[in-house]
Amino acid sequence: MKVLEDRIRESGIVLDGDVLKVDSFLNHQIDPKLMQEIGNEFARLFKDSGATKILTMEVSGIAPAVFAGLALDLPVLFGKKNKSLTLQDNMYTTTVYSFTKQESNEISVSKDFLNSDDKILLIDDFLANGQAIAGLLSICSSANAPVVGIGIVIEKSFQKGRIWIEETGIRIESLARVASLKNNEVQFVEEKELDE
Ligand code: 5GP
Repeated sequence: MKVLEDRIRESGIVLDGDVLKVDSFLNHQIDPKLMQEIGNEFARLFKDSGATKILTMEVSGIAPAVFAGLALDLPVLFGKKNKSLTLQDNMYTTTVYSFTKQESNEISVSKDFLNSDDKILLIDDFLANGQAIAGLLSICSSANAPVVGIGIVIEKSFQKGRIWIEETGIRIESLARVASLKNNEVQFVEEKELDE
């Protein structure tokens, strides 16, 4: 998605440890117009997926997920990172290791909002090694809710997530695919490579 790649080139900051900081439009300050374009693009890609609900992770997945939900006319649910849960019994829960924070979090989703009648489109802001997506897949599996697609705003294609997700057979679409962050420079996966 060219407008997204341009914005990453303009205002993305490469940090040590293969982290791309995009706090100016996605992870802290949010650009609603860009989020709307992102939501529309997810809608174009997944309009025939049969999804009945979007599931994302708080906090940074919510903005792109809500705009996708608006464009697809679907409800949006997010995994909560609560530490102490009063309604534990009524929750699907899993543990997710955070790539950027280097700590594990409990993620929970209420059984009231996820069940086997749902067909889920997962959306997240970043894909690195895929632990966040693995956590959301595990929650869907506990709920017997099939996952019909995975939409990622920024994929770091040089990390492990993409490969194992492809092996699951679930369709994955990433709007920007970063091939490398070496020398503090963002390189995207070439279109040619994408066609192969
Ligand atoms: P994964 O679980 O795929 O290893 O990492 C994805 C999660 O970690 C995303 O939900 C995102 O919050 C965070 N993350 C991973 N890599 C980056 C990055 O380079 N920049 C930012 N801002 N977040 C990242």
